[in-house]
Amino acid sequence: MADYDLAIVGAGVIGLATAQVAARCGLRAVVIDRDTQANGASIRNFGLVVVSG
Ligand SMILES: Cc1cc2nc3c(=O)[nH]c(=O)nc-3n(C[C@H](O)[C@H](O)[C@H](O)COP(=O)(O)OP(=O)(O)OC[C@H]3O[C@@H](n4cnc5c(N)ncnc54)[C@H](O)[C@@H]3O)c2cc1C
Repeated sequence: MADYDLAIVGAGVIGLATAQVAARCGLRAVVIDRDTQANGASIRNFGLVVVSG
C-alpha cells in the first residue's frame, strides 16, 4: 500500500496545480477524481482564457 502526504480530491486545474506545487515541495500527493478522466469546468471551458471569465 502506497503512502502519501496529501490527498487531493478533483483532477481539474486546481487539483492538478495543487499536486504540482506539492510535488515541487517534495510531498507525495495522490489526486482522486470521481470520474475516470477529468470532465469538469477545466475541460468544458474549451481552453478559453478570458480575464473576465
Ligand atoms: C464554458 C466555460 C468557460 C469558462 N471560461 C473561463 C475563462 O475564460 N476564464 C477563467 O478564468 N475561467 C473560466 N471558466 C472557469 C474555469 O474553467 C473554472 O473556474 C476552473 O476550471 C475550475 O477548476 P476546478 O479545478 O476548481 O474545477 P473542475 O475543473 O470542475 O474540477 C473539479 C473536479 O473535481 C471532481 N469532483 C467533484 N466532486 C467530486 C467528488 N465528490 N469526489 C471526487 N471528485 C470530485 C470532478 O469530477 C472534476 O474533475 C470557464 C468555465 C466554463 C464551464
